[in-house]
Amino acid sequence: MTLVEVPERFIRRTTALLVLCIGAIGLVTTFTAEGPHPGWQRVVVTAVCASTIPVGLFVAWTPLHLRWRRQLSRRGQLFTVAFVVYADVGIGAVLLTFADREGALYGTALFAVVGVYAGYFAPRRYVTAHVVGTSVFITVMAWLTWRQGQHDAAGVLARWMVSMLSANCALGILRNFTSRVQDALDAQFEDATHDPLTGLLNRRGLDSWAERALDPAMRPVGFVILDLDNFKSINDEYGHEAGDRVLVLVASRLRNTLGDDATIARTGGEEFALVLAADLDHCTRVAHAVRVALHDEDDDIPVTVSAGVSALATTETGHRDPVDALKDGLRRADVAMFEAKDAGRNQVRAFPG
Ligand code: GH3
Ligand code: MG
Ligand code: MG
Repeated sequence: MTLVEVPERFIRRTTALLVLCIGAIGLVTTFTAEGPHPGWQRVVVTAVCASTIPVGLFVAWTPLHLRWRRQLSRRGQLFTVAFVVYADVGIGAVLLTFADREGALYGTALFAVVGVYAGYFAPRRYVTAHVVGTSVFITVMAWLTWRQGQHDAAGVLARWMVSMLSANCALGILRNFTSRVQDALDAQFEDATHDPLTGLLNRRGLDSWAERALDPAMRPVGFVILDLDNFKSINDEYGHEAGDRVLVLVASRLRNTLGDDATIARTGGEEFALVLAADLDHCTRVAHAVRVALHDEDDDIPVTVSAGVSALATTETGHRDPVDALKDGLRRADVAMFEAKDAGRNQVRAFPG
């Protein structure tokens, strides 16, 4: 489970239930005088309502890999947008068949249900498209109601306003509310996945990154574990705060040396991990470069580092959980790092040694 994972099964089942409810409401209208005329209108309504059964089942059982809004998988995004379009078009098609335009105008309140879903999950531009589209539709329905001639202009205007409010107000409130909740969740997630001292990912953050970004089936993936040598004696000699400053300096040198070539994390007190899209030879060269870059004789407190390197070949990494691949790669790099320590520190070792 990811840190802030929305309970996906609950979302799928409730969405499926919503689809089926909307279908059932549409079906009920076919038995009312205000509903669709017998003929093609009834065929449209029946077809839309019937489609809610396979769509509902599909929604209920298809995993979306939803996490939370700003981390929807590509598939989750596609699904969300497709669902909003399907629901809006379906509801619109059914309402257009209504013999009683006023009834149809009130039926537009159903857009609120889609809107709440869209407001939570859909990317911003699709939410805007939903609001604009449904507002235009409601306006057309109001115009058709007025043309039917049973209400004066003020009466239609009042009904139009009620419909606009019911269709869009909940969405507006929810959108605002969720965006605040999302900001709070983002801040919490940032805290939980980053090391406050260096700003690097922490171990949890590295796992979460791997879940999203590490696709071990695609390429060799390499791991480097860096452990500062005799760091305890730095603390003992210069104090904990000086030790902290060294850690910050190491983190910034790692960033400068590696840029975007590696994902960098502080996985322990004075231990850092790098993940690279590269084979063992390349990672070993990178580890050597990092070892050299971290040491400067002119520093107030010069440090050295021992590094262990490992890589998982494509054949080994395919069809594996990315977090397992990460764990395995780091474990091997750790074994190699201890070999570097045993060999006298300030060196690089690769797994297998
Ligand atoms: P080795 O070469 O075998 O790695 O020796 P070492 O002294 O680096 O390793 P050891 O594991 O004995 O000590 C690590 C030290 O790192 C102990 C701990 O006080 C220190 N440390 C851990 N986290 C922090 C931190 O956030 N700030 C500071 N200043 N020190 C830390
Ligand atoms: Mg150490
Ligand atoms: Mg250590």
